[in-house]
Amino acid sequence: MARDGKNNTDKNEVGDKNAADRAAGRGASAAPVKRPTAYPAAVDRLISEFTKLPGIGRRSAERLAFYILKADEPTALALARAIADVKQSVRHCRVCSNLSEAEICAVCADPGRDRAKVLVVEQPKDLIALEQTGMYSGLYHVLMGRLSPLDGIGPSELTVAELLHRIDHPNESPGGVAVREVILGLNPTLEGDGTSLYLAQELRTRSVEVSRLARGLPTGSQLEYANKAVLADAIQARRPMDS
Ligand code: ZN
Repeated sequence: MARDGKNNTDKNEVGDKNAADRAAGRGASAAPVKRPTAYPAAVDRLISEFTKLPGIGRRSAERLAFYILKADEPTALALARAIADVKQSVRHCRVCSNLSEAEICAVCADPGRDRAKVLVVEQPKDLIALEQTGMYSGLYHVLMGRLSPLDGIGPSELTVAELLHRIDHPNESPGGVAVREVILGLNPTLEGDGTSLYLAQELRTRSVEVSRLARGLPTGSQLEYANKAVLADAIQARRPMDS
């Protein structure tokens, strides 16, 4: 009985090994199974291009890539064409660095603008936001960022030299009008304030008036909901009551 039992055990072990081989695809007749460990190369390339976009991690890049794969061809190609067009036809205005399809942007080329005023902003999107108010009719200067020493962004990474050149060489500006007022319209952040301070110092020796956008309570807001920084700005930037 004992001997039979041992034989049975040996047989079972052999049987189990064969079953394991079959499960792993290691049978004598079957070719090894290829298991994909990555997407097709073209998909991988699309995903890795998407991960280069700001704020897009691997997961989001995969989602975008699969959206493109699922989209119909005209939709996907329209995106590809829009990217190609923006790189081929859009450049920075020679005068103010605003985005433009011509050498000089629509704002700088407009003879109806007050060319003696230049409002300095960080990005083209800030210019658009200010234009949408319809309250400003002067020119702009887009810095293309703000000073950020910790990120290695100094004056030479921005269009500071171009701004000073505009002021120092009025004959090269559209219309040949000298800049008399520079309005600093940087974002009210630590780096934005630092940049404003730097520009104000650079402009001090030049015969231009320097101002900055007022800050404080937005219209329609209530004091109790404003944060401390906004209230502090509102108090500091208080002005005489119009009567
Ligand atoms: Zn321009």
